[in-house]
Amino acid sequence: MVGIFPGAGGTTRLTRKLGAMMAAPFLLEGRLVSPKDARAAGLIDEVVAPEALLARAKEWVLSATEADLVKPWDQKGYKMPGGTPYHPAGFQTFVGASAMVLAKTMGVYPAAKALLAAVYEGALVPFDTALRIEARHFTSVLMNPSSSAMIRSLFINKEALEKGANRPGVADQSVRKLGVIGAGMMGAGIAYVAANAGIEVVLIDATQEAADRGRAHSEGLLDKGLKRGKVTAERRAEVLSRITATTDYAALDGTDLIVEAVFEDPKVKADVTARVEAATAAIYATNTSTLPITGLAAASKRPEQFIGIHFFSPVDKMNLVEIIRGKATGDVAVAKALDFVRQIRKTPIVVNDARFFYANRCIIPYINEGIRMVAEGVEPALIENAAKLVGMPLGPLQLVDETSIDLGVKIARATRAAMGADYPDEAVDKVLFWMADQGRLGRKSKSGFYAYSDTGDRLGLWDGLCRKYPSDKMQPLLTDVQHRLLFAQVLEAVKALDEGVLTDIREGDVGAILGWGFAPWSGGPFSWLDMISAERAVGICRGLAAQFGPRFHAPGLLREMAATGQTFYGRFGGEKAAA
Ligand code: NAD
Repeated sequence: MVGIFPGAGGTTRLTRKLGAMMAAPFLLEGRLVSPKDARAAGLIDEVVAPEALLARAKEWVLSATEADLVKPWDQKGYKMPGGTPYHPAGFQTFVGASAMVLAKTMGVYPAAKALLAAVYEGALVPFDTALRIEARHFTSVLMNPSSSAMIRSLFINKEALEKGANRPGVADQSVRKLGVIGAGMMGAGIAYVAANAGIEVVLIDATQEAADRGRAHSEGLLDKGLKRGKVTAERRAEVLSRITATTDYAALDGTDLIVEAVFEDPKVKADVTARVEAATAAIYATNTSTLPITGLAAASKRPEQFIGIHFFSPVDKMNLVEIIRGKATGDVAVAKALDFVRQIRKTPIVVNDARFFYANRCIIPYINEGIRMVAEGVEPALIENAAKLVGMPLGPLQLVDETSIDLGVKIARATRAAMGADYPDEAVDKVLFWMADQGRLGRKSKSGFYAYSDTGDRLGLWDGLCRKYPSDKMQPLLTDVQHRLLFAQVLEAVKALDEGVLTDIREGDVGAILGWGFAPWSGGPFSWLDMISAERAVGICRGLAAQFGPRFHAPGLLREMAATGQTFYGRFGGEKAAA
């Protein structure tokens, strides 16, 4: 899952043992299975209890016959399960696999392509030759900059951040009792992941009914797990017993961390802060997605204990947590947030306070650039496909449908109010506000930039969009659209670093991939810029700025790096680059 594939014979052996079709989930998707399932799939030969392992191994060695030592593919008359590429059944498998892999990876992951080639070519030749073919494909993948960048971000640096690479050196701050205020979509999700990690949770909302509804969210998730055999009845009961749903702030007694997830309204949040601080001395975190932490901390009597812990939706699935240091936030609060994130087994990044923090700051310009192109007459399908073909999981129009168009309108209004005359996104708002006026609010209203069926299935781009914003006869080149979409994001990342919002490029890269799915093959925005070089990036920016406006001007930092031939990992990675 980090840009390589089993290259020490694993691919050849597994394909010959299981056949291409059955081996595919393990090789291509890195599927993990229990020992029992691995035995059933033919991946391993036998399962024994740990205490019997050595005895059984000795017994096997001592009683093994010649026949036991011959692997299936070395036996006389061996035929590859499912057939080789020129076998009628095998032919279908291989044609189908190519199409499926390409649909999933959009051709941007070198490992998937090389793996398929190794399997296909290996199936046509004797075993030893297949091993050599596999090793060569593996080597070419290993030498590909995409693979090293993926390994660095998704394996080495992700782990380093999870182990507390940027944790202040204060004593262990593991959370024992958590208070969650606001049992809506986010609060309910936070309560679930905490209870699941063994933390006692008090879940508070304005009414008992709302608090109970929040607790029922955990019940729903656990019931699903029970049905799928992933959760036992005891486990379900145990997790639920940890969540107390109430309206009574006195229940916060003994909590050591509070996460506030009430409405995105500074007045409501200030009122909650005062009530919580009267009930407990716990560290106080807000899950706000748009309001600066330092401003919200003004309502606190203990601003050094006030911090942002920004979860992404849906909480149980999204692995990134953005921790935001306000101006007055102290080290103990940061350590508390980091230890909490470690307990719930997610990946943290720590950023400084600024409008939209890090992730939303980069993702909003991506969405806006997509919408801006619609207004300019770029074919919506070109915009969406250009994004996917460069490795973004969702095109910008689909993404705004998912997060909801009225939320976009709300954010645009607030940003305009804050920025005044400098506000740069009028062209975007025209389209966005028009969509909202039509009542097209995105997936939740089953109508947005896409059309949806009555049951909520996405059908395709909405044809009304092209009636309102007709597509130009002359369409831009695919790469031009891709550059606009990518630079809209990476220039924000560079500015966030330059302004000190980001203090560690590792967090910038890992956060981008886990937070909003920034082209994972690239290793993240900074890895991608290093890959293409600052000099080339500045050249592309120059062209984009001349054609589309000053938002594409390369920031001073990038220009300076281009002039001196520096890379981000060379300049800001230090030892971390080789970590
Ligand atoms: P929501 O509307 O689903 O839930 C808010 C809950 O807070 C409701 O249950 C409401 O009854 C409760 N509430 C309101 N005032 C209260 C009070 N005074 N005391 C106790 N409870 C009160 O909203 P949400 O989507 O869960 O968002 C909550 C917070 O998380 C917001 O600050 C939002 O910006 C942030 N956030 C949301 C997302 C997202 O994708 N929805 C992502 C990250 C952060």
